[in-house]
Amino acid sequence: MTEIAENLVTVRQRIASAARAAGRQPETITLVAVSKTRPAADVAAAQAAGQADFGENYLQEALEKIAVLPRPGLRWHFIGPVQSNKTRDLAEHFDWVHGIERLKIAQRLSAQRPEHLPPLNVCVQVNIDREASKSGCLPEDAPALCAAVAALPRLQLRGLMAIPEPRQADPRAPFRQLRELFEQIRRELPQLDTLSAGMSDDLEAAIAEGSTMVRVGTSIFGSRPQK
Ligand SMILES: *Cc1c(COP(=O)(O)O)cnc(C)c1O
Repeated sequence: MTEIAENLVTVRQRIASAARAAGRQPETITLVAVSKTRPAADVAAAQAAGQADFGENYLQEALEKIAVLPRPGLRWHFIGPVQSNKTRDLAEHFDWVHGIERLKIAQRLSAQRPEHLPPLNVCVQVNIDREASKSGCLPEDAPALCAAVAALPRLQLRGLMAIPEPRQADPRAPFRQLRELFEQIRRELPQLDTLSAGMSDDLEAAIAEGSTMVRVGTSIFGSRPQK
């Protein structure tokens, strides 16, 4: 087995134990392997080990990998911040976009999603820590943004995404806040089914609070070079 295949086994075991500890079915949690900065060969190794969902942050790098890897069986998630000048490529080449924080970006993605593709899956990103430096909309703005995004014809709003700061005392606290917000929004939009939260260091805390999609890079592919 390759190191990547071994790491995938370990990460899947972590997800399964965290799910069981929370009284949840492991199959209800999707693993997105975050392959940013990694070569296409690493994505292929993970794919050979049964991994289907991949997350990328940098558009040009991602497009190069998408072009050389066989499309069927792979799902590409864009998890980085979205600027207006990237929306066309995202709409044309990705299956999911996790970082929606403004309606204008969502409108562009909807308008630019090609007719021959199914609606683009999206998540609204929430700045759950309310830090000025952080991406995402403020929690109190999320319900209205979700309602507006859900109405766009070529997008399928799936749920919320967040990247909380690590908290020593109560690691589950930000994920709990995210879940409470999600439950509130689902009263109006019951079709939402995705909480995209949890990374290499905090996936257990996220799963304990209901995450349905964890985005894991380092624990699968090893540590990244500093950008
Ligand atoms: C890089 C990144 C990840 C993966 O982080 P790891 O700590 O390497 O698991 C997850 N989500 C987002 C948005 C990222 O940018």
